[in-house]
Amino acid sequence: METEENSYDIAIVGGGLAGALVANRLHSSFKGSVILLDNHPTLGGKARSSSWETKQWAPNANFVSEKLYNFIANLLQSDPSLRQDETFSFKPANLSFFIQNKIIPIKSLSQKESKVPKILGGLAAQKQWLNLWDKMFGSLQDKEQPLSKSLNISHKDALASTLKLISYTCGLSSWLSLNPKAMEERCEYLENLGTSDILKNLAALFSRESSDCSLTLAFEEQVLTAQKKDSYWQIKTNKKQLKAKRLIVAHSPWEALIWLDRKELPQKILQMALRSKPTSIVSLTKRIKKECEGLSDQMIIASESVIMINSCGNLCFTYSLDYESSINTTEVTKAIKALRRSALKLVSAFPDLELEEESIALHPIAWGQSAQTKETSYVEKLSDYDFFKEDILFCGESYGTSYRPDENIIKSVLACASYCVENKLGE
Ligand SMILES: Cc1cc2nc3c(=O)[nH]c(=O)nc-3n(C[C@H](O)[C@H](O)[C@H](O)COP(=O)(O)OP(=O)(O)OC[C@H]3O[C@@H](n4cnc5c(N)ncnc54)[C@H](O)[C@@H]3O)c2cc1C
Repeated sequence: METEENSYDIAIVGGGLAGALVANRLHSSFKGSVILLDNHPTLGGKARSSSWETKQWAPNANFVSEKLYNFIANLLQSDPSLRQDETFSFKPANLSFFIQNKIIPIKSLSQKESKVPKILGGLAAQKQWLNLWDKMFGSLQDKEQPLSKSLNISHKDALASTLKLISYTCGLSSWLSLNPKAMEERCEYLENLGTSDILKNLAALFSRESSDCSLTLAFEEQVLTAQKKDSYWQIKTNKKQLKAKRLIVAHSPWEALIWLDRKELPQKILQMALRSKPTSIVSLTKRIKKECEGLSDQMIIASESVIMINSCGNLCFTYSLDYESSINTTEVTKAIKALRRSALKLVSAFPDLELEEESIALHPIAWGQSAQTKETSYVEKLSDYDFFKEDILFCGESYGTSYRPDENIIKSVLACASYCVENKLGE
């Protein structure tokens, strides 16, 4: 074990879900010293809870899948030495579309008789949807080929608007690349999302003493550079210099380009980082002054391409833009107008609802997950983790072939931790 000050066996960069979970796994089974660095004051990354008081209400990962919830809950429960006074519960979320003043559960999207196309595009669109459904889940052989290609759908077809909405709803970047595999996986994922306070309590994962692993949590430390010298990574943060034998990158590959030399990234990951496009979110948050019955936890206001998240006594309306558009004032103004119209539409549909105060924010947040597996933006055969190098490993939502971020997180965390435990360095 490294005992010299500021010298570690492993440095984990990123304390999001993936970084926190991999640190937990190492804490219980790795014999050595580990430091976890995150530029925020708490664990959680994008799943971190927001605070209205500090006006930091960001469009976070507000919902957790049942699979990820069970994974974290099992880690907590299976270890008797972890704190016992935490009780967690998973509450299935109520996700819906809000179309023409009607609330339609998102579940209906994955049903053949979905009302969504009819409400959007009338009977013709619904007929096309039924036809599309049969092809998509029945006769189409290549489940990874984009539907627009398999079915030869152009921008002008009525079905394009239905596909566009569905792709957007599923959280996938482009309707042109939506394929049956992505659609199936995302629908299943969305249907199993829920809310839980487990994410706020990630620190409980480390509340146990470990004799073999010394774990240091370093918050408000941003990694600025990391360079390989002899057999160590020399890491410079905004606060100090440290060194580590192995690096675990526990955030998206595109963020790694900011602090890590391109030559250190495995080819597949570099390609993914370079080809993905960033997006921003414009958000309008209103505090609920008077509650009303019937509001869902999350609603897609399809006519405005706005998503509303109902959480912690606030309604947060969000609008996604490509990063390039988000530095253009006209585009941002258009987004704010759509957000305001969405709030008005909602209030007119729920006359008892009273909203007050508002805050507007622009968050440069993420890179869209592509719907095309054949594109290099998805790392091929990632389940083999063949891109792991002796001294640098990767984990998080971006590293996996699944369209479900939870699955990618769980698999890459487990692979990363067992690689470290089995392949000890410098012994
Ligand atoms: C708007 C939005 C909504 C989403 N909604 C959901 C949802 O409802 N449910 C869901 O399951 N998933 C959702 N996702 C996906 C979700 O974010 C991921 O599944 C999950 O939170 C990602 O975890 P992670 O650990 O891979 O990365 P992150 O949560 O991004 O964690 C990475 C951490 O690394 C830190 N970091 C980065 N660079 C450095 C550096 N140089 N130095 C120090 N620290 C650094 C970051 O600050 C961050 O804390 C959403 C994503 C977005 C963008």
